[in-house]
Amino acid sequence: MAEIKLSETRDLTRIERIGAHSHIRGLGLDSALEARSSSEGMVGQTSARKAAGVIVQMVQEGKIAGRAVLLAGQPGTGKTAIAMGMAKSIGQETPFAMLAGSELFSLEMSKTEALMQAFRKAIGVRIKEETEVIEGEVVEIQIDRPAVAGAASKTGKLTLKTTDMETVYDLGAKMIEALGKEKVQSGDVIGIDKASGKITKLGRSFSRSRDYDAMGPHTKFVQCPDGELQKRKEVVHCVTLHEIDVINSRYAIGGKGLDFWLSASHGSKTSLPLESSNGGANMNCEIFRNLCSLHLYDWSKNHGSRTQGFLALFTGDTGEIRVEVREQIDTKVAEWREEGKAEIIPGVLFIDEVHMLDIECFSFLNRALENDMAPILVVATNRGITSIRGTNYRSPHGIPIDFLDRLLIISTQPYTGDDIRKILDIRCQEEDVEMSEDAKVLLTKIGEDTSLRYAINLITSAALSCLKRKGKIVEMEDISRVYELFYDVKRSTQYLMEYQSQYMFSEVGTGEGYED
Ligand code: ATP
Repeated sequence: MAEIKLSETRDLTRIERIGAHSHIRGLGLDSALEARSSSEGMVGQTSARKAAGVIVQMVQEGKIAGRAVLLAGQPGTGKTAIAMGMAKSIGQETPFAMLAGSELFSLEMSKTEALMQAFRKAIGVRIKEETEVIEGEVVEIQIDRPAVAGAASKTGKLTLKTTDMETVYDLGAKMIEALGKEKVQSGDVIGIDKASGKITKLGRSFSRSRDYDAMGPHTKFVQCPDGELQKRKEVVHCVTLHEIDVINSRYAIGGKGLDFWLSASHGSKTSLPLESSNGGANMNCEIFRNLCSLHLYDWSKNHGSRTQGFLALFTGDTGEIRVEVREQIDTKVAEWREEGKAEIIPGVLFIDEVHMLDIECFSFLNRALENDMAPILVVATNRGITSIRGTNYRSPHGIPIDFLDRLLIISTQPYTGDDIRKILDIRCQEEDVEMSEDAKVLLTKIGEDTSLRYAINLITSAALSCLKRKGKIVEMEDISRVYELFYDVKRSTQYLMEYQSQYMFSEVGTGEGYED
């Protein structure tokens, strides 16, 4: 029974949704930051990709704060795709936050608070701390089974050695469980975090390299550690300023969450090394505990609402965060920076549809970019000269001139037939759709005449049409069928022109942005 469950879980982890940008795995640049013609899911748009690569490098060096970049270009020319590529190539530790301009107006908080939260999601803090670990090669694990089943909890002994010493530790039930979970056996080199009891398997000792039956295909061999079993090690935790804000915000509203945050908050008592539970795994460091109590908050009196503060991180339902909380956090982080305990990592904040922001948001951005902790701001728009939201003034991209002046502008160009073909090829692979050469030629032609997005959308529907006629490969007939079934913008507009009298509030020919 247990086996069946296991395989079900494994299958589930393989299910991945295919999104509009799931084929993008990076910017596809070489080491000299030149764009390869097709790489990491990216095709064409070479100069925009190269420029984005320069920005990524600036971010990775971490020295420059508060720069802003505008990706400007016609709809469907890959602005969001390039931002995704940046996110993927920026590295795990560097925060990347993303929001669409329109989201600011639908949240249950002020626009500026939403922007502030987005900014702080894009500012990382790398906190360094020393922790005590026990590191050695497992000589023996001995578990004493109680005489009567279930009569008492299990106990046992763990023998660990380094090249210089060997020690026997007493094991409690939780530690035995943790060793079982990690499938630790003699010959493994393990690390035990003294404060949390978390066990990490570092590899198998070279001395056991001939025990073939204990080896999997990915067995990693390591040297048996030398010196003392107990050592001090430097650990690094990366959190965003927003995470610290939420943890310390007593007004946050809760929901479901993960256990380890709670463990971290409870973790002021250091457990005995070999008797501890495995909770609070990554977050047991002293500094992190301090982070959680920055607000000088009385945990015992406000247990309930504080729990919710933690959990709000995972629900996203954080509410507004008070200015004083942020001020205290900034002061504390500044202190740690001075003491060399923490480092700021300015990340990237991407705002799509930036023309949806109004004049207040722009003036907020202007000010926020002046802060020395500010992330790199990347905004994108497909608008031409249009009015700035909330005013009667017209401006390029609907962005006020003073803000526009701060921006480095990267422009995206319309795709050639060749690029469209390559992108369609990649999308067919991504969606697992086999398509005949003729069908691809036709679809590329449709892409050129209508839009890249429309052609991409036809891939899935054509595959369904193919399935319906029990075919294996998508042919021209499938493409033609779905082309007739679903209108593109041009044909839909033509239809509206013909039948406008039958629609309500028709303003064809008088509205802004309508060209034909
Ligand atoms: P809009 O202005 O309408 O928001 P956009 O410029 O952000 O459009 P995208 O959404 O990035 O356009 O592109 C449309 C589709 O084409 C997406 O599925 C995107 O992943 C894909 N795409 C665009 N450019 C490229 C490219 N250079 N390489 C690979 N895929 C691309």
